[in-house]
Amino acid sequence: TTFRTHSSFQYANLVVEKNTKKQRLPSDPEKLGFGRYFSNHMIDVDWDAKEGWFAPHIKPFQNFSIHPAAKVLHYAQTIFEGLKAYHGIRVFRPELNMERMRRTARRATLPDFNTREALLLIDELIRIDADMVPKTDKASLYIRPMLFATDKHLGIGESMQAKWACFTAITGSYFNYDRGIRLLADPEMVRSWKGGVGQYKMGCNYAPTIFVGKMAAMQGCDQAMWLSGEDRLVTEAGAMNLFMLWTNEENELELITPPTDSGLLLPGITRQSVVELAREWDLMKVSEANFTMDQLVRAVQEQRVHEFFVSGTAANVGPVSEILYCDKERGVKENLVIPTMSSKMQLVKRLNKTLCDIHYGRIEKKEWQRIV
Ligand code: PMP
Repeated sequence: TTFRTHSSFQYANLVVEKNTKKQRLPSDPEKLGFGRYFSNHMIDVDWDAKEGWFAPHIKPFQNFSIHPAAKVLHYAQTIFEGLKAYHGIRVFRPELNMERMRRTARRATLPDFNTREALLLIDELIRIDADMVPKTDKASLYIRPMLFATDKHLGIGESMQAKWACFTAITGSYFNYDRGIRLLADPEMVRSWKGGVGQYKMGCNYAPTIFVGKMAAMQGCDQAMWLSGEDRLVTEAGAMNLFMLWTNEENELELITPPTDSGLLLPGITRQSVVELAREWDLMKVSEANFTMDQLVRAVQEQRVHEFFVSGTAANVGPVSEILYCDKERGVKENLVIPTMSSKMQLVKRLNKTLCDIHYGRIEKKEWQRIV
């Protein structure tokens, strides 16, 4: 524990303390839910502005002890990631999560670390709890890295002490593919704005969305669809990116997803993978471009929208069947029905199958599969 390094924590300094207790899990993967059963170990690394990074620890899964004044508890100086390991054991594109986490850390004035060192620690954590990686295709091991400010004094300011931690949880399947979900599009509910932090995975982006999720549920919707600005740009849905397969105004078949350079949405790793797969398949034009609610409404009326779907680590890709558009300012209340489930192309189904095949190793795509 006396090793200290400034640029990053080091896997070479890892101290492992094994958990002697084993835990029992439900044998039915359907009963696993999302993030309710935790593995036996966790990574815990402390950082101090003067001392640098302390030696990383892997230790029995346990509570943190935290000072009541810790900045994270007041000013939300916390960031996180979410990625998955699948039996095999394959981790899906984890270097992209670590790169995103480092970009987020920089914006949150939390300390930087080395991508490779973080990946080596996560590999080790998964290996130690390897028997927790579900052996079925219906479940996986969700990995939750986090970094937060632990300074023991009040005062809004740059964090001088922080903790990098990571634990894992078993997750069952999240999406029901028998029906598409319904989104609420209400421009009064805003997730991100130009100059804000919508493109980063900071805890502060999520707290305000929970209330909105409840409002959406009260109107019979599964998630909010986030719009931005006077143009009512479509950006994301819930904590997921989104895609539309449509015949555009130039009469081209196009898969479109909002661009990441607007800074209004999180650059999802599933999103990036869908874009890359669709470009490889070359079945249609693939665009990272904005579209507005007006364009969407017109396209639905003219029956040019074929599929609409969301993407994210938890959900993979999931069909959207309805969008309830409520725009008080413009006196609009309209339910848009989208024929995703009956689309001839079945793009969302095909993407889901291919992504799962890659996750579970039925298709080899080495650059996307980190073998642990
Ligand atoms: N948008 C938001 C706001 C998210 O929190 C997530 C989940 N990380 C995503 C999109 C999807 O990103 P990914 O595909 O990397 O899980």
